[in-house]
Amino acid sequence: MKNDPRSHGLWERTAPPPPVTRALDGEVTADVAVIGAGFTGLSAALHLAEDGMKVVVLEAAEIGFGGSGRNVGLVNAGLWVMPDEIPAVLGDTYGPRVLDLLGGAPRVVFDLIARHNIQCEATPVGTLHCAVGDDGLAELKERARQWQARGAPVRLLDAAETAHKVGTTAYTGSLLDERAGTVQPLAYARGLAHAAIKAGATIYTESPVVGADDDGTQWRLRTASGSVTAPWVIVATNAYTMAMWPQLRAELVHLPYFNLATRPLSDNLRRSILPERQGAWDTKEILSSFRFDQEGRFIFGSVGALRGPGLPIHRNWGRRAMAKLFPQLKDVEFETEWYGKIGMTVDNVPRFHRLGRNVVSFSGYNGRGIAPGTVFGRCLAQLVTGKIGDADLPLPLTEPQAAPLRAAKEVYYEVGAQLAHVASARF
Ligand SMILES: Cc1cc2nc3c(=O)[nH]c(=O)nc-3n(C[C@H](O)[C@H](O)[C@H](O)COP(=O)(O)OP(=O)(O)OC[C@H]3O[C@@H](n4cnc5c(N)ncnc54)[C@H](O)[C@@H]3O)c2cc1C
Repeated sequence: MKNDPRSHGLWERTAPPPPVTRALDGEVTADVAVIGAGFTGLSAALHLAEDGMKVVVLEAAEIGFGGSGRNVGLVNAGLWVMPDEIPAVLGDTYGPRVLDLLGGAPRVVFDLIARHNIQCEATPVGTLHCAVGDDGLAELKERARQWQARGAPVRLLDAAETAHKVGTTAYTGSLLDERAGTVQPLAYARGLAHAAIKAGATIYTESPVVGADDDGTQWRLRTASGSVTAPWVIVATNAYTMAMWPQLRAELVHLPYFNLATRPLSDNLRRSILPERQGAWDTKEILSSFRFDQEGRFIFGSVGALRGPGLPIHRNWGRRAMAKLFPQLKDVEFETEWYGKIGMTVDNVPRFHRLGRNVVSFSGYNGRGIAPGTVFGRCLAQLVTGKIGDADLPLPLTEPQAAPLRAAKEVYYEVGAQLAHVASARF
C-alpha cells in the first residue's frame, strides 16, 4: 500500500480486492462517526449498521492500513498476561469478564467470517505456542493449568508430540489451543469492510481526520475536503493514531514486528512442517512466529523493523533461523517481506477510554488484536446503541497515561532486536 511493498507484503498480493471507496468530499451527517478502518472500527461499523444506525467510517489511508493488514494472522484467545494474573491487574469484576470475552473471541471471529462468507483463508485448527528450553516449558505448563482450570480446550503437548505437529525437534513441548487459528488478516479486514457496506455503512478512505469540534450535541470531524457531523464518535486508530487524540499514541510503546514469506512450497515440503496447519510461535523474549498461507507459503516472523540496518540483519537472520528449525528449507528464498508496529501498554492489558463527550475508544492490544479488535468493536457498537453501559464493558474506564520513557523503549526494541538477531549468528 502507498507504493510500499514492505507495508503489507504478501497479504496485499493475495487478499481479494477491497470495496470501492473514495475520499470524503463535502459535508455528511451520521448517527456515528468511526475513525480508523481496522478490525476495531470495521467491526463497530458492521454491528452498528446491522442495528440500523447510520455509520460513516473515516480512514486516513486504506482499509486495513494499520496493524490489521500487516499482522501474522494468529487469531488468539486471551491475552499475553497469564489468566490468573488478569484479575490482579483488572480486579474481580473486569478480570473474569475480559477473560471470558477474549477466551471466546476467536469463535466470534470465525462465526462472523462464516456468516458474511468472508474469503480470508480462515483456518480454525488451533495454535501451537512452542516451548524453548525448560523455562519455556514451565511457563506453558502453568498457562495450560490456568486455562484448563477455567475449562478452556487447551492441551500441553510433550516434546515428541510437538515434534510431530511442528516438524522440528527444537522445542521441549507446546501448548495447543483449540479455540484459536489463523486468517489472512488483510482479507479479513477487507471482508469486514464489504460486510459493513452491505449492511449500510459508508467508508471513506484517504480521509485523515485532522480536527474535531463539539457543539455540545454533535461532533464535527474535519478532513482536508469535508466533514462528518455525528452525535457519537468511535476512535479506532490504536497504534497507528495520527493527528487526532494523540494521547492514544502517547500511551503505547511501538514494538516493531516483521514477516518474511517464501514462495508456495512443494507438497513434500508442506507435509513436513505444521502438517495440521496450526499457527505457531515460541516462548523466547525476542519471539519467532511461523505459519502457512493457503497456497503453502511459509511465513516466518520476529521482532524488528525492516528498515535501515535492520533490513539486512533481519533478512539474514530469517534465512538462518528458518534453516536451523527446518533444514529442508535451507535453499528456499523469501519472496515477500513486510513489517508494522504493535502497540504495547505498560501492563500488557488493552484500554477503554472516553476521550470526550460521546467519544469512545479501545486500544493497546499488545500484538493480539484480531479477536480482541473484533469483539471490542462490537462492544463499542453496543455501547453507542445503549444495549450496554460503561459498567458492562470488559475493561474499566481509564484516562490515557503517557507511557514512561516511550521513545527510549522504542529505540531499545528496534535496536535490541537487531542485536539479538546478529548475536544469534555467532552463538
Ligand atoms: C506486524 C504485526 C503482527 C501482529 N500479529 C498479530 C497476530 O498474529 N494476531 C493478533 O491478534 N494481532 C496481531 N497484531 C496486532 C493487530 O494487528 C492489531 O492489534 C490490530 O490490527 C489493531 O486493530 P485496530 O483496528 O484497533 O487498529 P489498526 O488496524 O491499526 O487500524 C487503525 C487505523 O486507523 C487509521 N487512522 C489513524 N489515524 C487516523 C486519523 N486521524 N483519521 C483517520 N484514520 C486514522 C489508520 O490508518 C489505521 O488504518 C500484530 C500487529 C502487527 C503490526
